[in-house]
Amino acid sequence: MGGINRTSETRKGGNKGIQRTNKTVLAELRSKHRSGGLSPGEASSIILFGNHEHMDEVKLFGRGPRDRHEAIMDGMADGMVWACSDSRVGAIGTNDEMIILEQRSAGNSFAFPDTRSHRIQMAVIGRVRRGGLLAIAGHVSCGAVQAKADLDAQGPDAKTGNAELDAQLREVVGDSEEKNVLSQTCRLREANSTMGKLVVGVMLDWASEGVAYSVLDGGRGMPGPSLQQPFVGASELHAIHAQSENYLERMKGQSPHTIIVAPATIPYSVHTIVQSEPGEVFVVTGTSPYKATQSQREDNDLSLDYPALGSLYYPIEHLGTRNVIFLDDDANPELLKSKFAAWEKGLRALKHKGEEFVARLIDEGKLQLTKMVYELDSGKIREFP
Ligand SMILES: [Zn+2]
Repeated sequence: MGGINRTSETRKGGNKGIQRTNKTVLAELRSKHRSGGLSPGEASSIILFGNHEHMDEVKLFGRGPRDRHEAIMDGMADGMVWACSDSRVGAIGTNDEMIILEQRSAGNSFAFPDTRSHRIQMAVIGRVRRGGLLAIAGHVSCGAVQAKADLDAQGPDAKTGNAELDAQLREVVGDSEEKNVLSQTCRLREANSTMGKLVVGVMLDWASEGVAYSVLDGGRGMPGPSLQQPFVGASELHAIHAQSENYLERMKGQSPHTIIVAPATIPYSVHTIVQSEPGEVFVVTGTSPYKATQSQREDNDLSLDYPALGSLYYPIEHLGTRNVIFLDDDANPELLKSKFAAWEKGLRALKHKGEEFVARLIDEGKLQLTKMVYELDSGKIREFP
């Protein structure tokens, strides 16, 4: 699935002149994205440029990707956040020392019990240490909450045109972002009743001056300053971007150039791995809990669950996003091949009102799909053959 512009490779060698050139190219590509008309290949160039920044950054970190990966495997992640896939919701865990896993779906819901999605999310929660943070994070002007409210207004049998999105929206609750956060937080708190983790509900608001998050429901005690750090970090990132041109205007809607599908157990936020700006990348997680032992993994169903598929449908159908990247940090090429094949099958089978429109877009060369591996030793993402 070629089409990726490799100009970022010219950056090797640390030549400052070339770096400046790349920064200029990146600024031009971002400007083109804002005015519309970015090609999928150009979108992938932005992703690869951003990943080079990440590779430089991890060299300075105390704990690199492999250390973090091993801590996650050992069940020592510091927290997990259910955030919306919305491209305006940037990285949550921006702190080098903390490991915050991100579950991303349209409408930041915690899955209903007795569903496969619930089992997957519980398996990921198992990677969070005792006393760690579990947080439902909603955000202002959430398209999924609006879609849910619109469906409810049309009656109990109303449909979106896509079965997986219908199933996902059934898990979104209420006619406001706050109600949805509070309801998801209650559901998560019930699931956590014996696990000894701290559950909070948070609202992200990039339109506010200064603080961009607030704790809506601290439940049994507000998180201490250290556990609030991921949200302080997210606020600081927004504060930096808020100084850029037309920021608030741009944050009113979203038109992501790329969708990235990744496991919630990847060592950093996907937004950190590709250094994306708010509004660029729509992130979807949700797949089988393959981060178990090898024999358990082989027994697993590797396909994407319905929140992931519904969340994938939304930007392709409604936002016109035409660049999809599958990203995984698994080192086993055979497993990766099977997993990516299962993901692709799910993507191609997505229907809009009965028509397999995504398969058609791929076959007509209008939607680019690239499979990529995140290398734990370098932080680099490379195309999977
Ligand atoms: Zn949202």
